[in-house]
Amino acid sequence: MKFILATKNLKKLKELQRILQPLGHDVISERDLESPLPEVVEDADTFEGNALKKARSAMKFTGLAAVADDSGLCVDYLDGAPGVYSARYAGEAQNDDENNKKLLNALGDLPKNQRTARFVSAVAVVFADGTEFTVRGSCEGYIGYEPQGENGFGYDPLFIGEKGCFGNLTDAEKDSISHRGKALRQMAEELTKYI
Ligand code: IMP
Repeated sequence: MKFILATKNLKKLKELQRILQPLGHDVISERDLESPLPEVVEDADTFEGNALKKARSAMKFTGLAAVADDSGLCVDYLDGAPGVYSARYAGEAQNDDENNKKLLNALGDLPKNQRTARFVSAVAVVFADGTEFTVRGSCEGYIGYEPQGENGFGYDPLFIGEKGCFGNLTDAEKDSISHRGKALRQMAEELTKYI
């Protein structure tokens, strides 16, 4: 099936393509369209709500089945923040370095057992006839004391999971344990019920 991926984040787009293309799906992005996808205000209070908003909008605009992911980092000590505000944690400029600095400041020198966190990804699929579903993947870890590694994006330099800091993982290592990898594999399984 041909899908439009409703994301403007190039690194996310690559992650989504890496996982969906080997499963035999034809995946295009807004770069393959003549005009960009409409902006979507991500004001829902859940990851699923925002993912559905993005996928519904992309499906309406293109007439194609659409996939969107909404994801973020939930830190226990911060009562789940930055959560759905992860991209804009340090302000509307959505700057990864500033977000990471703000997070490090918020946790100060708390011990490791108080720095527990998880990445969460909700993936929404909206078919051309309006049928839709969502799936969720998560990945447990803790927040380190300083940025590490050159790989990934967003909070990856600070997030330490079962295979070490996400900033040091190869693409394949990250996909095998990441929230988005888990959600997309679940999505692929769920898709078989529809197509
Ligand atoms: P979204 O584009 O609205 O889903 O924003 C997600 C934000 O959560 C990103 O801008 C990152 O700050 C953070 N995030 C989500 N997934 C990841 C990941 O795999 N690694 C690092 N940060 C992530």
